Amino acid sequence: MASTLFGVQGVVVVEVDVEADGGVTVWLATDPGVVPVCPDCGVASTRVHEYVLTRPRPLPRPAAAAAAGVERVAVVWAKRRWRCGNPDCARATFTESVPQIPPVPGWSSGCGTMPHS
Ligand SMILES: [Zn+2]
Repeated sequence: MASTLFGVQGVVVVEVDVEADGGVTVWLATDPGVVPVCPDCGVASTRVHEYVLTRPRPLPRPAAAAAAGVERVAVVWAKRRWRCGNPDCARATFTESVPQIPPVPGWSSGCGTMPHS
């Protein structure tokens, strides 16, 4: 059910936190079925370089949330950065992306942890 919360393909909802102010924070992770492929050389990677937390631009508040009286829906996406396994490729690492969630330039953090893990 959760993965269809926003109707976004390629990500899954890990956890939904209800904040003290009544807002909701949705933690996303990339769908484990998505194979990370280097955008430069097209070689699939199997080596995670690091995890980064990003905040995609706010998504439309789901109708279900609005019906429940939730005023604010924040999204945090725990992306993986992969190391390209192609020794001939100039790109050392790349992060996951899905077409429906555009990356936000300048907002990312290399130091963060998922809640309750
Ligand atoms: Zn590559």
